[in-house]
Amino acid sequence: MKKLTGAMALWLASCGSVAASAEPAAYELTFGADQPLVAHVVARVTLNEQVLRMAAWGHPYLPRGWATFVDELEITNEEGSSVDFSEAEEGTWGAWNVQAGSGERLHLSYDVHFTHDQYDWNDAGGQDSRPSLTNGALFLVTKALFIYSPGFSPGEESAEVLINKPDDWLVSSPWPASTGNDDSFFVGSWISLVNNALVVGKHHQRTIEDGDMTIVLAVDRELYKSLDLFEQTFRKQLGAYRDLFGGTPETQYLVTIRTANEDDGESFENSFNQVITPGRIAARSIVWANTMGHELFHYFNGNHVLIGLEKSTIEWFGEGFTEYYASLTLLRTGLIDEALWFRKLERYLARYVISTRMWPVDRLSLVDAGQDKHRNWLLIYGGGATMALALDIEIRAATQGARGLDQVMRRLKDEFGAPGSRYTVNDILAAVNHVSGNDFTTFFDTHVKGSEGHLDIVGTLRKAGLNVEQFADEFYLSRSEQPTPLQVEIYRGITMVD
Ligand SMILES: [Zn+2]
Repeated sequence: MKKLTGAMALWLASCGSVAASAEPAAYELTFGADQPLVAHVVARVTLNEQVLRMAAWGHPYLPRGWATFVDELEITNEEGSSVDFSEAEEGTWGAWNVQAGSGERLHLSYDVHFTHDQYDWNDAGGQDSRPSLTNGALFLVTKALFIYSPGFSPGEESAEVLINKPDDWLVSSPWPASTGNDDSFFVGSWISLVNNALVVGKHHQRTIEDGDMTIVLAVDRELYKSLDLFEQTFRKQLGAYRDLFGGTPETQYLVTIRTANEDDGESFENSFNQVITPGRIAARSIVWANTMGHELFHYFNGNHVLIGLEKSTIEWFGEGFTEYYASLTLLRTGLIDEALWFRKLERYLARYVISTRMWPVDRLSLVDAGQDKHRNWLLIYGGGATMALALDIEIRAATQGARGLDQVMRRLKDEFGAPGSRYTVNDILAAVNHVSGNDFTTFFDTHVKGSEGHLDIVGTLRKAGLNVEQFADEFYLSRSEQPTPLQVEIYRGITMVD
């Protein structure tokens, strides 16, 4: 197991055409039914900066990061001689200093143990953010698997991943299979390698298409009866986002759903993990379908298409607007009714009011709240979704119902959706100004960048023909009985229903 296996040598010889001058990294992962909680990995990587490492984030601040679960690491050079290495100092979250030259091609061999459930993962996003063996399948996050050398230049970032597993196991991958080999996958970038979901083992798999997008649904065997419901729900949400952003991307996308003792989701570069409590699934779509729509929206807002230059300053937009569109899309596609949508909006408003006016600590601006996302969760999600709702209504009011937040999202995607492009808070403001034909600088200064403002929620919602009864953090929404034509137009523009 320590040397390059015959299968890998053959396969490496066959993938030399990927980039002649910059040889891609290559990994061979071996899984076995006898020891399902261990994967053996052999790899070939090009060394940069004399460092090998694992993804620094996504773990609950373990001193050795994802390397906590790696052992038996051995490094050899092209001649097969052993290469010395030592673990890097504290604060590097899982890295090794390697005694070899930059540009040198190294062979790695190591084991990964999937014992992540022995740690509390709540500080790192919850159990959907770590590997789990559930009902015969390993629902993985790829940060757990890959040791790489940082500092790649563009074009050197691709990798090939070969997966060996028992014949009766399936692989559900966020990467397309290489031509002619179902077990070998082409990975187009470093971030796609280390920031994705991957399922290996016994599970249900369904592949669906939407335009140029291929979606792999990987579902826990215990949830088999809900597979059709998951697919129908996902198709409706993706269809709504396709209309919003002007098409589906040419990509493979992986959706994994497994049972757990809570409902939650975590999105990655071009995949998401969803955990769901079993039982009464059709009756609980407000929880899991909203999560599904939220995580899928993150492909467009947060993970792949729209990425902020300074992440902490746009968390309110990344999470709040994603949450706003998740529940709005449930309504627009008929997955929930108006009464349930109102309850969602009432909850966003409550979170906003609690975290800005009733919180026993100094109030933060939305921009500053992202510096500690975990702690300021209520403000980021509730305040962000409230801003999305308020801007949607105010833009429609300013344009006599002609345009709204949909056009802002589309404009941002058109302006900042290219690979490597990054947007800022002022870019969001500029898009709002452009779409509305108005100047929202004061609104942003007061409610987004400032920490003193009091949003006139009642006044804003009235413009959409909505009544609001408020007591402390309680909100009760209803539709006005005699709305003006403009109020009707604004409400219809938002909800797409009469
Ligand atoms: Zn989110």
